[in-house]
Amino acid sequence: MRDRSVGHRAFSHAELSWLAYDWERVGDPDVAPRWPFKVFLPRSTEDVVRAVREAAAAGEKLIVRGSGHSSNRLVTGEGGTVLLTELMDRVEVDERASTCTMQAGARLLDVDQRLARHGFGLKVVGDHGDITAGGFASVGGISPASHRFGLFVDTVTQLEYVDHAGKVHRCGPGDEAFRRVLAGLGRYGVITELTVELQRIDKQRTVLRNDRVLTGTFADFLARAEELVCNPDPALYARAFWVDLGKAGYGQISRYHLARKRPDRVLRSRLAAGYQRLIGAAVTNLPPAAGAIAKYAGVAAMVLPPIYPTVERVERFADDLADATVGGPTRMFIAIAPAEAAADVARGMLEACGAAREAGAVGPVALYLKPIRSPYLSGDRDDVRHAEITVTATVDPATMTESVLSTVVERIDDVALAHRAFRYLHTRTSEDPQRRRWLDPNARYGSDEEGAEARWWA
Ligand SMILES: Cc1cc2nc3c(=O)[nH]c(=O)nc-3n(C[C@H](O)[C@H](O)[C@H](O)COP(=O)(O)OP(=O)(O)OC[C@H]3O[C@@H](n4cnc5c(N)ncnc54)[C@H](O)[C@@H]3O)c2cc1C
Repeated sequence: MRDRSVGHRAFSHAELSWLAYDWERVGDPDVAPRWPFKVFLPRSTEDVVRAVREAAAAGEKLIVRGSGHSSNRLVTGEGGTVLLTELMDRVEVDERASTCTMQAGARLLDVDQRLARHGFGLKVVGDHGDITAGGFASVGGISPASHRFGLFVDTVTQLEYVDHAGKVHRCGPGDEAFRRVLAGLGRYGVITELTVELQRIDKQRTVLRNDRVLTGTFADFLARAEELVCNPDPALYARAFWVDLGKAGYGQISRYHLARKRPDRVLRSRLAAGYQRLIGAAVTNLPPAAGAIAKYAGVAAMVLPPIYPTVERVERFADDLADATVGGPTRMFIAIAPAEAAADVARGMLEACGAAREAGAVGPVALYLKPIRSPYLSGDRDDVRHAEITVTATVDPATMTESVLSTVVERIDDVALAHRAFRYLHTRTSEDPQRRRWLDPNARYGSDEEGAEARWWA
């Protein structure tokens, strides 16, 4: 198989063993593999229909897998049957309609690079290049432009999917199935193709000015982050980042505006991009111990982001700087909270990790917040805003036992439930189907009657 991976030093998508794991391996390198028994490699919608029918006839649950970057055991199964979208990567651009139609296995970095040749770009793209269109659409899709464009799923205008009976459906925003399948984690069928709105932009050359605020106190950081996520902001891209070292911490709030083009700014943005890539390359190519040090340099660089980056570098920021597969293992937990509750949820998530830190299971923790204004999340209410809160914790797998991890996860879920927040379900959550349903942004659109919940979560 081709290795399409853009930035992992430790794992290759070309290895067969990749199929036995998801991103959980980054948090626990010794986690037991869950080898599938059967793998389908469709290239077309017709192939997907065939695979779905074969699996259904054999009474097998079909696990849909994009790049396997989720970490909630959604894409692995011991002895299971996996449909891998790897070979479904066709992309077509419609310049007149400002849309792009792609097969579900297309990697969004490839799509964006292809679009750049036509003077377009995706409105919402993840910061990691290996994420597939189908995988992103099945969880939601958030970027530092989500306060303008919503989730990736809000930019989708047309969807083709194959249901569990092997029937092909095409649907759009007016159809009931549309939002049910989007962010549906593969429960309602296999997304085969999707069309998304584009923006006219040159991501590689558009220089932004980062009006950043640096702060050394958590209370001040949270107050400023709250202001960022609660209020409409003219910034084109926005994010907040805090590093918690236990006794100390440091943070920054970044609002990116269009910079007037001046040769010195273009030069500074090129130097910043070079610096970003240099740290990223060091993390990827140095021997493991030195790579781990470079990774911490990358994390430090996140606290002091460049003043004049290009759009591309803002979108790929974290991934440029630190390869998560190098250095100490990390676990990611994400909540999507109503904006007014974001500060409380962020604090609660850190406290949940703090308890595990006392047991020696958690080291430094990074906290990101991104503002979101999403019709999908708000049920089309204009006045409702959300925030993505990501906690990336460095962990010691020896002390982060399954029971300690479950306690952290349940506490984070409790915090989310107390504040009517969602969890981003591609990261580890409770396994209780009822709790998962309350935490699921898709629940508003999904339906129990079809039995999909029962069938897939059982
Ligand atoms: C390093 C890293 C950086 C990330 N950055 C971001 C970010 O910036 N923004 C963000 O929003 N998320 C981010 N994520 C999360 C990422 O978007 C999700 O984990 C996403 O699901 C990964 O895509 P994938 O192709 O690997 O999906 P997989 O992990 O393979 O699948 C995820 C889910 O989608 C389902 N699925 C996949 N393909 C299909 C399909 N064709 N039809 C139906 N269901 C399908 C699977 O069954 C599973 O439930 C990041 C994750 C990592 C590891």
